[in-house]
Amino acid sequence: MQAVETPHKKLENKLIQKKNMIGLSEKELYDSILELKIPEKKASMRTKQLWSWIYCHGKKDFSEMSNIDKVFRSNLKNNFSLERLKIEQKEKSLDGTIKYLFSLNDDSKIETVFIPEKKRSTLCISSQVGCTLNCSFCHTGTQKLVRNLTSEEIVGQLIAVYDDIEHWENSKKTNDGLSNFQIITNIVFMGMGEPLLNYSEVKKAVMILMNDKGLDFSRRRITLSTAGVVPYIKKAHDELGCMIAISLHATEDKTRNILVPLNKKWPIDAIIKTLKDDLKLRNSERITFEYVMLKDVNDTEFDAKRLVKIIQGLPSKINLIPFNQWVGSGYERSPQKKIQAFSQIIRKAGFPSPVRAPRGEDIMAACGQLKSSTIKKRLNNA
Ligand code: SF4
Repeated sequence: MQAVETPHKKLENKLIQKKNMIGLSEKELYDSILELKIPEKKASMRTKQLWSWIYCHGKKDFSEMSNIDKVFRSNLKNNFSLERLKIEQKEKSLDGTIKYLFSLNDDSKIETVFIPEKKRSTLCISSQVGCTLNCSFCHTGTQKLVRNLTSEEIVGQLIAVYDDIEHWENSKKTNDGLSNFQIITNIVFMGMGEPLLNYSEVKKAVMILMNDKGLDFSRRRITLSTAGVVPYIKKAHDELGCMIAISLHATEDKTRNILVPLNKKWPIDAIIKTLKDDLKLRNSERITFEYVMLKDVNDTEFDAKRLVKIIQGLPSKINLIPFNQWVGSGYERSPQKKIQAFSQIIRKAGFPSPVRAPRGEDIMAACGQLKSSTIKKRLNNA
């Protein structure tokens, strides 16, 4: 039986909380080690060793870091931690999708979803606790924003999932990464929150994810999905170089104002203008547009044609997402026939338009649902 943490114990634990090394930038890690009063040259070597132990080997315990001397290991242990996010709940779908509800140190809850496919696996991570943007079709939008996540909590989602799917052990066994579906190939910031409204911590986390001496995700395998925070689109593209996805969901402002209220501040024209005029897209780079298919709201032939007009001249891909229904949303999923017809119009105009296969429908697949249901259960049991 799991020991119950009393409020007294919780407070005690908080007071003795050590600095977590996960989520520190390379420079911060180096500076933290310097505080242990070792020469700069040695600190630089220790930083490299620690980075590799943490992000290539997933070590949770300093005592296992065999190329670091015993005295320094115990010094590290006394001052730092490699603490993981706590899995509060885990739901596995029949299709292999795993949805995690993590509990953070202040008892906030966030969701992360692992989506294995044949040739790739994607991790959908959160950037905030809740969200301020209130997109009317999104379950997370019904939860108020509690706070931004730190880079420790953003990178921590990947580390905790890696632990859970036994990535550290398995990755050593396979040479060709793609044959093992447990290896996460892509990271998308499409969980709870708007990543560009938590830009500095997201940026720090992305730099850690892309660091080629550790987790080593290429910029092409990380996607920041934004509802359209225009001033940060160019900044994120220039500074991080990772992929940008726009949650478009409508082809004219009147409908988009309802679906994505942020549109009142930065309407469709403003988003498209910054994509066309400000981003210097590399060869073969394209912008992804996410488009949730809502019955009788945004799924007409006319919408599809208008969408083609909007993206004309912009290398684009349109992901069509069949809506994951949730009680009280007031929306329904568009019929499959209509989704296919919509896709065909876009494809005919020369833009890829894949229809995303619904995943994890048996495990409350809509973003934010698992968190809401857990809170509801708690209140009922109180
Ligand atoms: S769709 Fe994204 S930006 Fe909109 S409310 Fe949901 S989490 Fe926030």
